[in-house]
Amino acid sequence: MHCLRILRAIGFAEQACHRGQMSLARGLLRPMMAAMPELPEVETVRRGLAPHIEGRRIKRLTLNRPNLRFPFPKNFVAQMEGATLVHFARRAKYLLAEMQSTKGETFFWLSHLGMTGRFILTPPPVDKADKESQTPGVFAHEQAAPVADKHIHVDLDFDDGTHLAFADPRRFGFMDTIDKTPENSPFLARLGPEPLGNDFNEAVLLAAAQGRQTPVKNFLLDQSVVAGLGNIYVCEALFMAGISPRRKAANLGAKRVARLVPEIRNVLARAIAAGGSTLRDFAHEDGAMGYFQHDFKVYGRAGEICSAPHCSASVVRLMQSGRSSFYCPKCQR
Ligand SMILES: [Zn+2]
Repeated sequence: MHCLRILRAIGFAEQACHRGQMSLARGLLRPMMAAMPELPEVETVRRGLAPHIEGRRIKRLTLNRPNLRFPFPKNFVAQMEGATLVHFARRAKYLLAEMQSTKGETFFWLSHLGMTGRFILTPPPVDKADKESQTPGVFAHEQAAPVADKHIHVDLDFDDGTHLAFADPRRFGFMDTIDKTPENSPFLARLGPEPLGNDFNEAVLLAAAQGRQTPVKNFLLDQSVVAGLGNIYVCEALFMAGISPRRKAANLGAKRVARLVPEIRNVLARAIAAGGSTLRDFAHEDGAMGYFQHDFKVYGRAGEICSAPHCSASVVRLMQSGRSSFYCPKCQR
């Protein structure tokens, strides 16, 4: 019951976010654009923050409320304060920081951005930075649209004066800590291979598709098949691979899988590459989270002429398990 209510609330918020976000991006309204950050958005956050926080000790952690989507873990503050952030990694759409406690024990700090979660990094004060003869301007940024204080739920102070705030107006994000083995976390236990990692390949995808009667669109959204793929990039990868989202996973066959795997990687890699240049806006933007890549081939383009050369068909929108799929019925079989 509780889950259903959350899902419904997310759906509503997605539409609301979309109206603001895409009308800015294109000057047009497009129906049902999901606003959940996907793997490339999370990876870009990771890449942006890692050099500023890796190797730093947490001096102080302040929680401004008892919960986000879930309550913060018990002893969260005690566990985090004094600990060193050793490595800032990502698993699927989770940010996963390897931490070392004051006693030298390894644990993991997991955070999920939900829908509107974001980290805001403030560099050490300038005079301090000068004293430590850091290159001026390295941390420079403009805070054009500061997040309202009431939406900042977590404040982290590092030993060098770096401040990291977590803001999340809609509070679908959450945080947890994991002792020793991240694979044992209920959030990570059932995740499939990383789409950009070596464990994801044609043989693995083909084996997973065996006997699956579900449409390939839903199959690819199954996080136990491949971790971190979301609605937008699945639509785009299926278009690039010329595969209909309606095709049963069991009927993919080796040839289509051989086209699909590299297209999944390409679509994600392109979005990550596009993200790097807009990280500044991303980190400080208030309200809905934007996507880096707005030149989607099919996503959000229902009724428009397909962008494939020599194709005059229109992009079709189709509901699959409550989510919009966009595809070209002529190019995708
Ligand atoms: Zn087409």
